[in-house]
Amino acid sequence: MRSSSCSLPPLALYAAQESTSRGRCYPEPGHAYRGEYQRDRDRVIHSTAFRRLVYKTQVFVNHEGDHYRTRLTHSLEVAQIARTVAGCLGLNEQLVEAICLAHDLGHTPFGHAGQDALNECMEPWGGFEHNLQSLRVVDELERKYADFPGLNLTFETREGILKHCSRRNAQNLGAIGGRFLQRQQPGLEAQLANLADEIAYNNHDLDDGLRAGLLSIEELGAVDLFREQHDRVCRNHPGIDRRALIHETVRGMINQVVTDLVDTSRLQLEAAQPDSIDAVREQRQPLIRFSTPIAEQHLALKRYLHQSLYQHESVQLMTVRAHQVVRGLFERFMADPQAMPEEHARRALQWQQESGDEGKARAVADYVAGMTDRYALAACDD
Ligand code: MG
Repeated sequence: MRSSSCSLPPLALYAAQESTSRGRCYPEPGHAYRGEYQRDRDRVIHSTAFRRLVYKTQVFVNHEGDHYRTRLTHSLEVAQIARTVAGCLGLNEQLVEAICLAHDLGHTPFGHAGQDALNECMEPWGGFEHNLQSLRVVDELERKYADFPGLNLTFETREGILKHCSRRNAQNLGAIGGRFLQRQQPGLEAQLANLADEIAYNNHDLDDGLRAGLLSIEELGAVDLFREQHDRVCRNHPGIDRRALIHETVRGMINQVVTDLVDTSRLQLEAAQPDSIDAVREQRQPLIRFSTPIAEQHLALKRYLHQSLYQHESVQLMTVRAHQVVRGLFERFMADPQAMPEEHARRALQWQQESGDEGKARAVADYVAGMTDRYALAACDD
């Protein structure tokens, strides 16, 4: 039994509750004063993969400057936004935080460029999906507990981590893959973590893009969400300096979309009245959502960033280099698995004996995906 002094705020009926949790793969006794989702969050924070996020690229590689977001600061911003919304809607804050902090654990070095390169390398053997890799990290690859592989997280945290999955891969995942085959929704905390991720990266990538000089305030006038907040700040604070103007604008943008998300989701929940997490899973559509106008404006911002930032030639230069590094490492370790550290070499040998080149390739992909940017660059120069 947990101490009543640690009691949590009341949860809505539709929130994830420990009493109806689908549990852990390896059953464990409860903790004296920590809840199950709190334990999940704590396990994520203490994982090796979580510490590595500080040296993994979001958009800008780590050594380009100290003020850009990394995967770690991105994950913290996602968790911050999601907890705020969870508190407003009576959702389980500890669960949503666990999902957000874990959601990018499977990301390769060099952001999406690294992932695309590894996916190409793995094409003959089922490809590489970063969401699925995040699940592999928490289910299998972290090895430090005496009684189980991975972190042995609850079903609900794992459900949130696996936010997308191909049908082909879902078929091999047991219960956690079921919703992709049956077209069910995940719990509300998982739905929220997904949108908090989008809100965080759209806004902080814009902020980082302005800081790097790859985006300009003038050109961003074409983006409704930005222009509206920018003009409001200029009206209220004539003569404001550029740094504060950008910060106040981005702050206003986040506030606008988060407020819309809370208001719209509340209306959806009032209309659908799901009385349990299973009732949420049976819904035809996600209940955590933006209003149509804000969803459209948010999508327009995302498209703008794709065109003007992610496709920018200086970001693309990094993309080309990332492909070379990831492919070079993958090919080298496929040819000579013994060149990997002992634990990975042993796994490659064992999996090769079990399932041939596919097993060996998966062990190599796990090793390369776990690398930080700087570790991959150093390994490439070896
Ligand atoms: Mg993310």
